[in-house]
Amino acid sequence: MTKRVKSPKYIFVVGGVMSGVGKGVASSSIGTIMKARGFNVTALKIDPYINVDAGTMNPTEHGEVFVLDDGDECDQDMGNYERFLDIDLSRINYMTTGRVYQEVIRKERNLHYGGKNVEVVPDIPKEVIRRIKKATKEADADIAVIEIGGTIGEYQNIIFLEAARMMKMNAPDDVMFVMVSYLPIPSKVGEMKTKPTQYASRTLNGVGIQADVIIARSEVPLDARRKEKIATFCNVDKSGIISAPDVDSIYDVPINFEKGDLGRVISDKLGLNHVELKTDLRAWQNFANKPKKAKKEVSIAVVGKYFDSGDFILADVYISVLEAIKISSYHLNLRPKIDYLNAEDFEGANSSRNLKKLAKYDGVLIPGGFGTRGIEGKIKVVNFVRLNKIPYFGLCYGMQIAVIEYARNLLGLKDAATAEMDANTSNSVIDVIPGQKDLIEKGNYGNTMRLGAYPAVLSKGSIAHRSYKTDEISERHRHRYEVNPEYVERLESAGLVFSGRSPDGRLMEIAELPESEHPFFLGVQFHPEFKTRPLSPHPLFNAFIKASLKRRE
Ligand code: GLN
Repeated sequence: MTKRVKSPKYIFVVGGVMSGVGKGVASSSIGTIMKARGFNVTALKIDPYINVDAGTMNPTEHGEVFVLDDGDECDQDMGNYERFLDIDLSRINYMTTGRVYQEVIRKERNLHYGGKNVEVVPDIPKEVIRRIKKATKEADADIAVIEIGGTIGEYQNIIFLEAARMMKMNAPDDVMFVMVSYLPIPSKVGEMKTKPTQYASRTLNGVGIQADVIIARSEVPLDARRKEKIATFCNVDKSGIISAPDVDSIYDVPINFEKGDLGRVISDKLGLNHVELKTDLRAWQNFANKPKKAKKEVSIAVVGKYFDSGDFILADVYISVLEAIKISSYHLNLRPKIDYLNAEDFEGANSSRNLKKLAKYDGVLIPGGFGTRGIEGKIKVVNFVRLNKIPYFGLCYGMQIAVIEYARNLLGLKDAATAEMDANTSNSVIDVIPGQKDLIEKGNYGNTMRLGAYPAVLSKGSIAHRSYKTDEISERHRHRYEVNPEYVERLESAGLVFSGRSPDGRLMEIAELPESEHPFFLGVQFHPEFKTRPLSPHPLFNAFIKASLKRRE
C-alpha cells in the first residue's frame, strides 16, 4: 500500500468510568472506519498487569487467550482487531507491564543505558513508545490505534498514559485521544447521568491529557441536551461526542460510528482530510446486515468448562469460537442459537438424561481446554454424538477427546486417556509432545507450549480437503499434548481418518470420520477460530454449520 501520510498517526483509546463497556470493539471499529477511508491501519493492546502474557492466566479471570501467528499468547481484544481489520498482528502489537519491565531490565543488565540511573520515568514510558513506533513501522501503517487497558484513575495504567502524553507533546498533530466512557441510567432515577464521565475526563486531565473524542456508551442513544453538557464540562467540541448505544451485533458499531461522523472528526483532528478517499464500508455493511436478514435458525451446543463465574455465565472465554460460529452462520443466512453446556453435567447421576437432551441440537462443538475437570463428561458427549450421528466439531482438546473416545470404544482400550488426565495410563493415546516433558517437570509453564502457526498437509478426498480446497494449510496452535504416533495405525484401521498431518507426517493435525459413516465428525489439533474473519469465514466452521443445517432440515 502506498504511504498516505507524511508521519504515522496515533489514536489512543482509553476507558472512563468502568471497564467492560466495549473499549476493544470501539478501538477495532475506529480502525475499521479509518481503513474504509483507504488508510493502512494497525492496532495495539496494552494490558497493565505484570503477567508477561495472557498464557498463564486462568480463563475465568481473564477471558480467552488469543494466539497470534508468531505464537504470542495475548488478550482477546487482539482477536477483535484481527477480525475487524482483517490483518495479522504480531507480538510487538501486544504489551503488558511485565513485558515492558522485562525488556528494560534486560537492557540494563546488558549495559544498554551506559551506566546511567535507569528510572521508572522516563525509561519505562520510553520503552512503551519504542514498542508503539516499532509496531507501527513493522506494519507500515498510516494509523495505529492503541488501546490502553483498564480505566482512567487506576494506578496501574498511569505509566502508559504518561507514554501517550509524551508522544502527544512531541508530535501534537499526530496524536489524538479517544475516551470510551459509560453513562449510567440508574433505574430509580430514570435519567442518563453524565457526572461520572465528567469526573473521568477531569482525572484524564490530571495526567496531562485532554480527550479529543468521547464515545458515550449507554443503553440508549445520547440526547442533544446531554451531548451539550458533556461537551461543555469535558472541554470537547460537540462534534467529538459520539453516541454509542447498545447494539445487537458488535459488527454494527463501525456503521454507527460512521453515521456519527466519527471518521471525519478523526480525519480533521489528525489533518488527514487532504488525502481522504471516499469511504467504502460496503463489504462490511453487507456483512453487518446479514444477521438482521437471517430467518432460519441453527442450534449449536458448546460443551465446555469455564462457563460459570458465581451467578454469571462467562462466554468470553470462548469468544473467538462463538464469533466463528456466528460469522459462518451469518454467511449462510442463518441465525445461530448457541447454548453453553457444562461438561460436568454429563458425569454422574443425571448424565444419561442430559446426554439425551443433546439430540435436540443441530451440531455440537467441544472447544479447547486444559486439565481434568469435566473430561469424562466430554468423552461421553463425543460418544453420544458419534453414535447418534449429530455433527461434531472438536477444537484442540475437542479433537484429543474424540481420539480417546474412539480408542476406548472401537479399539477396546478401556483405559485410553491423555497423559494430561492420567500420567500412568498404559494407553496414553494422547501423549506429551517430545521436548515438553522436561519443561513440565521443571514447572516451566509460561510460553512453552507448541504455539502459533504451523503448516499441515491435507489428504485428498477428505472432508478437510474438500472444505479448505487446498493441499496445505497453516493454522494456529496452543497445546502441550498430541496424538501418540504409536496408536495412529490402529486408530486408522478402526476407521478414524487422520486427514491432516504435519509436513513430516509425525503430528496428527486433523481427525475425521468418512461421510459414509457420519455426516460430520471432525476434530482439529489447532484453533481455526483464531483465523476466522467476518469477511472471510473459516472453511471448517462453514462445513460444520452446513452439516448442522442439513441435520435440522
Ligand atoms: N490440554 C490440551 C493440550 O495441552 C489441549 C489444549 C487446548 O485445547 N488448547 O494439549
